[in-house]
Amino acid sequence: AKQSGRNTFRHFEPSMNTSALKTLILQHDLQRALEEGQLSVSFQPKFRIADRSLSGAEALLRWHHPDLGDIPPLEFIPVAERSGQIIQIGDWVIKEVCRMISDLDASGLPAIQIAINLSPIQFNLRDLVERIDDIVRSAGIAPERMMFEITESVAMQNMDKTSATIQKFRAFGYDMAIDDFGTGYSSLAYLQQFSIKQIKVDRIFVQGLDVHEREGLALVSTIVNLARALDMDVVAEGVETETQMERLASLDCDQMQGFLLSKPLPAAAFQQFLSGVAGL
Ligand code: C2E
Ligand code: CA
Ligand code: CA
Ligand code: CA
Repeated sequence: AKQSGRNTFRHFEPSMNTSALKTLILQHDLQRALEEGQLSVSFQPKFRIADRSLSGAEALLRWHHPDLGDIPPLEFIPVAERSGQIIQIGDWVIKEVCRMISDLDASGLPAIQIAINLSPIQFNLRDLVERIDDIVRSAGIAPERMMFEITESVAMQNMDKTSATIQKFRAFGYDMAIDDFGTGYSSLAYLQQFSIKQIKVDRIFVQGLDVHEREGLALVSTIVNLARALDMDVVAEGVETETQMERLASLDCDQMQGFLLSKPLPAAAFQQFLSGVAGL
């Protein structure tokens, strides 16, 4: 049915489920979403666990659809990846983050580093680093202000290529993080060959700190110690409870991100939050 072009609709009824239909609709509507300003970027602060001071933020894409309301990234990003639209959308996210950094600097707000998620499609672009650097430099932003996150499973696909791409990011002055760490079932040793600044421990392990206290602690402790040995920062993702935060502190985990201290904030609210941090 996929190859049949404009006759595709004929094949809809029995074989195509609602999710396939939804995919088509989302893909179609995404095209207009960018042009019509339905996309936005929210910013979730990251904190040092020791003193709860601000350590940075992560940019997270949002889509407010005029009819369907808010559509979660986990629904529309896979669609944009399959259609290739993620490349254009990804460029746009980088521009928005540049704009935020310019705004922060113009307002005398803290000169934090902002992390941006890269999809597998973006990461595999041959000219990715040059492409990003063009955008960042023409916005007049220093590369040190940005970090790029790739998931562990993307990093593992082709380790030589991953290693080379990460080296290139580093050579241009950008920091790199491994996202969703612990979900890829990879040996921990491979991390050594990447020049990674930060490891982000997946939420599932943070939740495990409440549920299976002993095993949960052992797992996170292993990741934290590994990161220490390799001179990387560790960020715990999805921290929702005081208990999780206390246990992370006891394990000497560096940083945390999660609803307990802050949800992702729309641009204006994020700037307001930073004004508070800066005591302005
Ligand atoms: P991620 O990179 O692992 O981002 C963290 C996700 O966890 C975000 O979901 C965030 O809102 C959520 N989160 C943060 N703290 C908590 C918490 O305490 N509890 C819970 N339950 N969730 C928490 P979000 O914004 O829905 O994004 C989902 C995924 O979509 C991201 O996962 C990332 O893989 C992808 N994504 C988001 N923005 C972009 C983007 O600009 N580009 C690309 N390629 N992917 C993006
Ligand atoms: Ca991320
Ligand atoms: Ca993550
Ligand atoms: Ca995730």
